[in-house]
Amino acid sequence: MDRKGILIVVSGYSGVGKGTLMKALTTRYGQYALSISATTRQPREGEADGREYFFKTREEFEALIEQDRLIEYASFCDNYYGTPKDYVEEQLEQGRDVILEIEQQGALKVKEKNPDILMLFVMPPDTDTLVKRLRGRGTEPEEIIQQRLTQAVEESKHVDQYDYMIVNDDLDRAVEELHHLIESQHNMIKRNLDFTNQIREGLEFLASRSRECAPGQQAFK
Ligand code: 5GP
Repeated sequence: MDRKGILIVVSGYSGVGKGTLMKALTTRYGQYALSISATTRQPREGEADGREYFFKTREEFEALIEQDRLIEYASFCDNYYGTPKDYVEEQLEQGRDVILEIEQQGALKVKEKNPDILMLFVMPPDTDTLVKRLRGRGTEPEEIIQQRLTQAVEESKHVDQYDYMIVNDDLDRAVEELHHLIESQHNMIKRNLDFTNQIREGLEFLASRSRECAPGQQAFK
């Protein structure tokens, strides 16, 4: 049975731990392809070009837009972020599940083009924990933290556009929940129409043959 790759969008407020969750998921389960975005934001300490992001100048990023090499892009807290097309298309064609960890404007654009995608939103267990995590990261000045909180308020208004939430209270538990959620999507009838039709045709064939073998008898009433 052919298994088609699913496109999964994961969003969530700044500081909710999406990055850590994605790293833990892809380390534990090798079948996921995590898309690496391009951004004009400055690298944070410990981030490497081509690992967390492809770090670009504004001019380089605008060239990607012009050449139509991004699936989507958005401006978030004064920086561009975008998803390179080639990798995602290539991985989906190979049957891999591809995860885009992106913010909401971009997520909604992707959904508009591909209504069949799985939209997930990572929630903090409570707001205090979110603010503590955002400040605790220690990588951003207070002004940026304020900007990200304002952005979070905006994002909170559109959470109903997502299919499922994952509460990031315990990393291990959240990874398992995420994995099982994605796995269960593979069993949706609409994603398995080739297989279900094949079974139906097989049944029709068997039923017609048994009718031929036993004339006058109906296989089904
Ligand atoms: P950060 O600067 O904290 O790494 O990311 C800021 C926000 O940009 C996060 O919500 C992250 O999910 C989002 N983001 C990262 N890559 C992309 C992308 O390719 N497209 C869009 N639309 N958002 C992205």
